[in-house]
Amino acid sequence: MLSEFSLIDRFFARRASAPAPRHEDEAAKPLGIGDDCALIAPPAGHQLAISTDMLVEGRHFFPDVDPYALGHKALAVNLSDLAAMGAKPHAFTLALALPRADETWLEAFSDGLFALAERHDCALVGGDTTSGPLNICITVFGDVPNGAALRRDAAQPGDDIYVSGALGDARAGLGAIRGEWPAPEGSDWRRALERPEPRVALGLALRGVAHAALDISDGLAGDLMHILKRSGMRAIVDADAVPCSNAVRALPEAARRQCTLAGGDDYELCFTAPVAARKTLANIATSVNVPLTRIGTIESSGAPAIAWRDAAGAPLSLTLQGFDHFHAD
Ligand code: ADP
Ligand code: MG
Repeated sequence: MLSEFSLIDRFFARRASAPAPRHEDEAAKPLGIGDDCALIAPPAGHQLAISTDMLVEGRHFFPDVDPYALGHKALAVNLSDLAAMGAKPHAFTLALALPRADETWLEAFSDGLFALAERHDCALVGGDTTSGPLNICITVFGDVPNGAALRRDAAQPGDDIYVSGALGDARAGLGAIRGEWPAPEGSDWRRALERPEPRVALGLALRGVAHAALDISDGLAGDLMHILKRSGMRAIVDADAVPCSNAVRALPEAARRQCTLAGGDDYELCFTAPVAARKTLANIATSVNVPLTRIGTIESSGAPAIAWRDAAGAPLSLTLQGFDHFHAD
Protein backbone atom coordinates (compact mmCIF):
# COMPACT_ATOMS: atom_id res chain seq x y z
CA MET A 1 0.00 0.00 0.00
CA LEU A 2 1.32 3.42 -0.96
CA SER A 3 1.89 5.88 1.88
CA GLU A 4 0.97 9.54 1.42
CA PHE A 5 4.63 10.44 1.10
CA SER A 6 5.64 7.73 -1.34
CA LEU A 7 2.60 8.66 -3.43
CA ILE A 8 3.59 12.34 -3.52
CA ASP A 9 7.19 11.45 -4.22
CA ARG A 10 6.57 8.87 -6.93
CA PHE A 11 3.82 10.54 -8.93
CA PHE A 12 4.47 14.22 -8.32
CA ALA A 13 7.67 15.35 -6.57
CA ARG A 14 10.08 13.15 -8.53
CA ARG A 15 8.55 14.18 -11.85
CA ALA A 16 8.40 17.90 -11.13
CA SER A 17 11.01 20.17 -12.70
CA ALA A 18 12.59 22.86 -10.52
CA PRO A 19 11.14 26.36 -10.85
CA ALA A 20 13.35 28.43 -13.17
CA PRO A 21 15.61 31.00 -11.47
CA ARG A 22 14.80 34.54 -12.67
CA HIS A 23 17.19 36.62 -10.58
CA GLU A 24 20.97 36.99 -10.63
CA ASP A 25 20.85 37.30 -6.86
CA GLU A 26 21.69 33.90 -5.32
CA ALA A 27 19.60 34.76 -2.22
CA ALA A 28 16.47 34.95 -4.44
CA LYS A 29 16.89 31.34 -5.63
CA PRO A 30 13.47 29.65 -6.06
CA LEU A 31 12.49 26.56 -4.08
CA GLY A 32 10.16 23.80 -5.27
CA ILE A 33 8.51 20.81 -3.56
CA GLY A 34 9.75 19.54 -0.21
CA ASP A 35 9.64 22.37 2.29
CA ASP A 36 6.68 23.98 4.04
CA CYS A 37 6.40 26.58 1.28
CA ALA A 38 7.68 26.98 -2.23
CA LEU A 39 9.61 30.19 -2.96
CA ILE A 40 9.13 31.99 -6.26
CA ALA A 41 9.44 35.57 -7.52
CA PRO A 42 8.53 37.18 -10.83
CA PRO A 43 11.29 38.65 -13.02
CA ALA A 44 12.10 42.31 -12.35
CA GLY A 45 9.42 44.65 -13.68
CA HIS A 46 6.75 41.93 -13.68
CA GLN A 47 3.65 41.11 -11.64
CA LEU A 48 2.65 37.62 -10.53
CA ALA A 49 -0.67 36.57 -12.11
CA ILE A 50 -2.35 34.00 -9.85
CA SER A 51 -5.43 31.89 -10.51
CA THR A 52 -7.12 28.87 -8.91
CA ASP A 53 -9.56 26.41 -10.46
CA MET A 54 -11.09 23.37 -8.85
CA LEU A 55 -12.47 20.29 -10.61
CA VAL A 56 -14.99 18.23 -8.68
CA GLU A 57 -16.13 14.74 -9.64
CA GLY A 58 -19.74 14.65 -10.78
CA ARG A 59 -19.77 18.42 -11.29
CA HIS A 60 -16.91 19.08 -13.73
CA PHE A 61 -16.19 15.57 -14.93
CA PHE A 62 -17.75 12.12 -15.00
CA PRO A 63 -16.46 9.52 -12.50
CA ASP A 64 -15.21 7.27 -15.34
CA VAL A 65 -13.27 10.01 -17.17
CA ASP A 66 -9.89 9.03 -18.63
CA PRO A 67 -7.37 10.01 -15.89
CA TYR A 68 -4.82 11.22 -18.46
CA ALA A 69 -7.39 13.64 -19.87
CA LEU A 70 -8.32 14.74 -16.34
CA GLY A 71 -4.67 15.55 -15.50
CA HIS A 72 -4.47 17.55 -18.72
CA LYS A 73 -7.72 19.40 -18.17
CA ALA A 74 -7.10 20.27 -14.51
CA LEU A 75 -4.00 22.22 -15.54
CA ALA A 76 -5.40 23.41 -18.90
CA VAL A 77 -8.30 25.31 -17.34
CA ASN A 78 -5.85 27.12 -15.07
CA LEU A 79 -3.39 27.92 -17.88
CA SER A 80 -6.36 29.28 -19.80
CA ASP A 81 -6.84 31.91 -17.08
CA LEU A 82 -3.19 32.95 -17.41
CA ALA A 83 -3.63 33.12 -21.19
CA ALA A 84 -6.68 35.34 -20.79
CA MET A 85 -4.60 37.75 -18.72
CA GLY A 86 -1.62 37.77 -21.11
CA ALA A 87 0.53 36.07 -18.47
CA LYS A 88 3.33 33.58 -19.10
CA PRO A 89 3.00 30.34 -17.09
CA HIS A 90 5.73 29.80 -14.50
CA ALA A 91 4.65 27.47 -11.69
CA PHE A 92 1.66 25.70 -10.14
CA THR A 93 0.52 23.92 -7.00
CA LEU A 94 -1.75 20.88 -6.86
CA ALA A 95 -4.17 20.04 -4.06
CA LEU A 96 -5.57 16.57 -4.52
CA ALA A 97 -8.23 14.62 -2.65
CA LEU A 98 -8.25 10.96 -3.69
CA PRO A 99 -10.70 8.24 -2.67
CA ARG A 100 -7.87 5.67 -2.86
CA ALA A 101 -4.23 5.41 -3.99
CA ASP A 102 -4.81 3.69 -7.33
CA GLU A 103 -1.38 3.47 -8.99
CA THR A 104 -2.63 2.98 -12.55
CA TRP A 105 -4.94 5.94 -12.19
CA LEU A 106 -2.23 8.15 -10.63
CA GLU A 107 0.27 7.21 -13.32
CA ALA A 108 -2.09 8.25 -16.11
CA PHE A 109 -3.27 11.38 -14.27
CA SER A 110 0.28 12.58 -13.67
CA ASP A 111 1.28 11.72 -17.27
CA GLY A 112 -1.49 13.99 -18.58
CA LEU A 113 -0.66 16.72 -16.07
CA PHE A 114 3.09 16.78 -16.71
CA ALA A 115 2.82 16.47 -20.50
CA LEU A 116 0.97 19.82 -20.55
CA ALA A 117 3.11 21.36 -17.78
CA GLU A 118 6.31 20.58 -19.68
CA ARG A 119 4.97 22.06 -22.92
CA HIS A 120 4.43 25.33 -21.09
CA ASP A 121 7.55 25.29 -18.86
CA CYS A 122 5.30 25.36 -15.83
CA ALA A 123 6.88 23.76 -12.73
CA LEU A 124 4.91 21.94 -10.02
CA VAL A 125 6.20 23.62 -6.83
CA GLY A 126 3.95 22.19 -4.12
CA GLY A 127 0.54 21.01 -3.11
CA ASP A 128 -1.38 18.93 -0.67
CA THR A 129 -2.61 15.34 -0.79
CA THR A 130 -5.42 13.90 1.24
CA SER A 131 -7.97 11.11 1.05
CA GLY A 132 -11.54 12.04 0.24
CA PRO A 133 -13.99 12.35 -2.66
CA LEU A 134 -12.03 13.02 -5.87
CA ASN A 135 -11.29 16.73 -6.08
CA ILE A 136 -8.46 18.48 -7.90
CA CYS A 137 -7.51 22.05 -7.16
CA ILE A 138 -4.67 23.75 -9.03
CA THR A 139 -3.27 27.22 -8.49
CA VAL A 140 -1.11 28.67 -11.26
CA PHE A 141 1.42 31.48 -11.10
CA GLY A 142 2.39 33.42 -14.21
CA ASP A 143 4.41 36.50 -15.10
CA VAL A 144 3.12 39.61 -16.77
CA PRO A 145 5.05 42.87 -17.29
CA ASN A 146 3.84 45.59 -14.89
CA GLY A 147 0.65 47.11 -16.24
CA ALA A 148 0.46 44.83 -19.32
CA ALA A 149 -2.18 42.37 -18.05
CA LEU A 150 -5.28 41.99 -20.25
CA ARG A 151 -8.02 42.95 -17.82
CA ARG A 152 -11.79 42.67 -18.06
CA ASP A 153 -12.31 46.36 -17.32
CA ALA A 154 -10.39 47.74 -20.28
CA ALA A 155 -12.87 47.62 -23.20
CA GLN A 156 -13.15 50.95 -25.07
CA PRO A 157 -16.02 52.38 -27.14
CA GLY A 158 -15.58 51.45 -30.81
CA ASP A 159 -13.51 48.32 -30.05
CA ASP A 160 -14.02 45.27 -32.21
CA ILE A 161 -14.95 42.09 -30.32
CA TYR A 162 -13.16 38.86 -31.26
CA VAL A 163 -13.19 35.23 -30.29
CA SER A 164 -10.46 32.68 -30.96
CA GLY A 165 -10.96 29.21 -32.43
CA ALA A 166 -14.45 27.73 -32.66
CA LEU A 167 -17.10 27.65 -29.95
CA GLY A 168 -19.61 24.99 -28.99
CA ASP A 169 -17.98 21.60 -29.57
CA ALA A 170 -17.62 20.82 -25.86
CA ARG A 171 -21.25 21.75 -25.14
CA ALA A 172 -22.41 19.84 -28.21
CA GLY A 173 -20.58 16.77 -26.88
CA LEU A 174 -22.01 17.18 -23.40
CA GLY A 175 -25.52 17.48 -24.91
CA ALA A 176 -24.93 14.27 -26.84
CA ILE A 177 -23.83 12.47 -23.66
CA ARG A 178 -26.93 13.79 -21.87
CA GLY A 179 -29.18 12.77 -24.78
CA GLU A 180 -30.27 16.36 -25.58
CA TRP A 181 -29.38 15.84 -29.27
CA PRO A 182 -27.51 13.25 -31.35
CA ALA A 183 -23.69 13.30 -31.23
CA PRO A 184 -22.52 15.98 -33.68
CA GLU A 185 -21.12 14.06 -36.58
CA GLY A 186 -17.55 14.83 -37.63
CA SER A 187 -16.85 16.92 -34.50
CA ASP A 188 -13.98 15.96 -32.24
CA TRP A 189 -16.23 16.87 -29.34
CA ARG A 190 -14.66 14.43 -26.91
CA ARG A 191 -11.32 16.13 -27.45
CA ALA A 192 -12.95 19.55 -27.01
CA LEU A 193 -14.57 18.40 -23.78
CA GLU A 194 -11.63 16.50 -22.30
CA ARG A 195 -8.49 18.03 -23.80
CA PRO A 196 -8.94 21.78 -24.20
CA GLU A 197 -5.81 23.55 -25.41
CA PRO A 198 -5.14 26.72 -23.40
CA ARG A 199 -4.46 29.70 -25.72
CA VAL A 200 -1.25 30.69 -23.99
CA ALA A 201 0.70 31.82 -27.09
CA LEU A 202 -2.28 33.88 -28.23
CA GLY A 203 -2.63 35.55 -24.82
CA LEU A 204 1.04 36.55 -24.88
CA ALA A 205 0.75 37.89 -28.44
CA LEU A 206 -2.28 40.00 -27.45
CA ARG A 207 -0.32 42.01 -24.85
CA GLY A 208 -0.22 45.62 -25.95
CA VAL A 209 -2.74 44.90 -28.76
CA ALA A 210 -6.01 43.83 -27.12
CA HIS A 211 -7.80 46.04 -24.62
CA ALA A 212 -10.01 43.71 -22.52
CA ALA A 213 -9.87 39.90 -22.56
CA LEU A 214 -11.12 36.79 -20.78
CA ASP A 215 -11.36 33.08 -21.43
CA ILE A 216 -14.71 31.55 -22.30
CA SER A 217 -15.32 28.90 -19.67
CA ASP A 218 -19.01 29.45 -18.93
CA GLY A 219 -20.33 30.40 -22.39
CA LEU A 220 -19.77 33.45 -24.61
CA ALA A 221 -22.94 35.34 -23.60
CA GLY A 222 -22.28 35.21 -19.87
CA ASP A 223 -18.53 35.68 -20.14
CA LEU A 224 -18.74 38.66 -22.51
CA MET A 225 -21.14 40.24 -19.98
CA HIS A 226 -18.29 40.17 -17.44
CA ILE A 227 -16.23 42.41 -19.75
CA LEU A 228 -19.23 44.68 -20.36
CA LYS A 229 -20.04 45.04 -16.67
CA ARG A 230 -16.44 45.64 -15.62
CA SER A 231 -15.89 48.11 -18.46
CA GLY A 232 -19.31 49.79 -18.23
CA MET A 233 -20.06 49.19 -21.93
CA ARG A 234 -22.65 47.51 -24.14
CA ALA A 235 -22.00 45.26 -27.13
CA ILE A 236 -23.58 44.55 -30.50
CA VAL A 237 -22.84 40.97 -31.50
CA ASP A 238 -23.63 39.12 -34.74
CA ALA A 239 -24.80 35.74 -33.43
CA ASP A 240 -24.28 34.17 -36.85
CA ALA A 241 -20.66 35.34 -37.01
CA VAL A 242 -19.72 33.37 -33.89
CA PRO A 243 -17.34 30.72 -35.23
CA CYS A 244 -18.16 27.03 -34.84
CA SER A 245 -17.21 23.69 -36.37
CA ASN A 246 -19.22 22.34 -39.33
CA ALA A 247 -20.58 19.68 -37.00
CA VAL A 248 -21.99 22.26 -34.59
CA ARG A 249 -23.28 24.33 -37.52
CA ALA A 250 -25.28 21.28 -38.65
CA LEU A 251 -27.21 21.07 -35.34
CA PRO A 252 -30.80 22.43 -35.22
CA GLU A 253 -30.73 26.21 -34.79
CA ALA A 254 -31.75 26.33 -31.12
CA ALA A 255 -29.16 23.68 -30.20
CA ARG A 256 -26.49 25.41 -32.27
CA ARG A 257 -27.12 28.76 -30.58
CA GLN A 258 -27.16 27.12 -27.15
CA CYS A 259 -23.77 25.49 -27.89
CA THR A 260 -22.00 28.44 -29.51
CA LEU A 261 -23.44 31.32 -27.47
CA ALA A 262 -24.01 29.77 -24.07
CA GLY A 263 -22.08 26.49 -24.05
CA GLY A 264 -19.37 26.18 -21.41
CA ASP A 265 -15.93 24.58 -21.39
CA ASP A 266 -14.62 26.19 -24.60
CA TYR A 267 -11.47 27.84 -23.17
CA GLU A 268 -11.17 30.09 -26.18
CA LEU A 269 -10.34 33.77 -25.64
CA CYS A 270 -12.81 36.61 -26.13
CA PHE A 271 -11.19 40.03 -26.38
CA THR A 272 -11.72 43.57 -27.58
CA ALA A 273 -9.25 45.58 -29.66
CA PRO A 274 -9.25 48.91 -31.49
CA VAL A 275 -10.18 48.94 -35.18
CA ALA A 276 -6.61 50.09 -35.92
CA ALA A 277 -5.33 46.69 -34.72
CA ARG A 278 -7.13 44.62 -37.38
CA LYS A 279 -4.05 44.04 -39.53
CA THR A 280 -1.85 43.26 -36.53
CA LEU A 281 -4.45 40.75 -35.32
CA ALA A 282 -4.56 39.03 -38.71
CA ASN A 283 -0.78 38.60 -38.44
CA ILE A 284 -1.07 37.31 -34.86
CA ALA A 285 -3.69 34.75 -35.96
CA THR A 286 -1.25 33.46 -38.58
CA SER A 287 1.77 33.45 -36.30
CA VAL A 288 0.10 31.58 -33.42
CA ASN A 289 -1.97 29.48 -35.82
CA VAL A 290 -5.31 30.20 -34.14
CA PRO A 291 -8.23 31.63 -36.13
CA LEU A 292 -9.53 34.96 -34.81
CA THR A 293 -13.07 35.99 -35.73
CA ARG A 294 -14.58 39.45 -35.38
CA ILE A 295 -18.08 39.04 -33.95
CA GLY A 296 -19.16 42.52 -32.88
CA THR A 297 -18.52 45.99 -31.54
CA ILE A 298 -18.27 47.71 -28.17
CA GLU A 299 -20.44 50.78 -27.62
CA SER A 300 -20.44 53.19 -24.75
CA SER A 301 -23.54 54.31 -22.86
CA GLY A 302 -26.53 52.43 -21.59
CA ALA A 303 -26.60 49.56 -19.15
CA PRO A 304 -24.16 46.72 -19.85
CA ALA A 305 -25.99 44.40 -22.27
CA ILE A 306 -25.50 42.40 -25.44
CA ALA A 307 -27.64 43.35 -28.44
CA TRP A 308 -27.72 40.24 -30.64
CA ARG A 309 -28.04 40.57 -34.43
CA ASP A 310 -28.39 38.01 -37.22
CA ALA A 311 -26.17 37.93 -40.29
CA ALA A 312 -28.43 40.50 -42.02
CA GLY A 313 -28.12 42.88 -39.07
CA ALA A 314 -31.68 42.31 -37.84
CA PRO A 315 -32.17 42.26 -34.05
CA LEU A 316 -32.48 38.79 -32.50
CA SER A 317 -34.07 38.10 -29.20
CA LEU A 318 -32.37 35.10 -27.67
CA THR A 319 -33.13 33.20 -24.52
CA LEU A 320 -29.88 31.60 -23.51
CA GLN A 321 -29.10 29.46 -20.55
CA GLY A 322 -25.56 30.13 -19.36
CA PHE A 323 -23.85 27.97 -16.81
CA ASP A 324 -24.14 28.86 -13.16
CA HIS A 325 -23.21 26.30 -10.51
CA PHE A 326 -25.88 27.52 -8.13
CA HIS A 327 -28.65 27.85 -10.71
CA ALA A 328 -27.86 24.84 -12.88
CA ASP A 329 -30.20 23.81 -15.69
P1 ADP B 1 2.60 20.18 5.04
O1 ADP B 1 2.41 19.14 6.08
O2 ADP B 1 3.56 21.26 5.39
O3 ADP B 1 1.32 20.66 4.43
P2 ADP B 1 2.95 18.00 3.29
O4 ADP B 1 3.56 16.97 4.16
O5 ADP B 1 1.50 17.98 2.99
O6 ADP B 1 3.38 19.42 3.86
O7 ADP B 1 3.73 18.02 1.89
C1 ADP B 1 5.14 17.83 1.82
C2 ADP B 1 5.64 18.50 0.57
O8 ADP B 1 5.06 17.87 -0.57
C3 ADP B 1 5.31 19.98 0.47
O9 ADP B 1 6.40 20.64 -0.12
C4 ADP B 1 4.09 19.99 -0.41
O10 ADP B 1 4.04 21.21 -1.12
C5 ADP B 1 4.37 18.82 -1.33
N1 ADP B 1 3.13 18.19 -1.85
C6 ADP B 1 2.14 17.57 -1.17
N2 ADP B 1 1.20 17.10 -1.99
C7 ADP B 1 1.59 17.43 -3.24
C8 ADP B 1 1.03 17.26 -4.54
N3 ADP B 1 -0.14 16.64 -4.75
N4 ADP B 1 1.72 17.75 -5.59
C9 ADP B 1 2.88 18.40 -5.39
N5 ADP B 1 3.47 18.60 -4.23
C10 ADP B 1 2.83 18.13 -3.15
MG1 MG C 1 -0.08 19.27 3.87
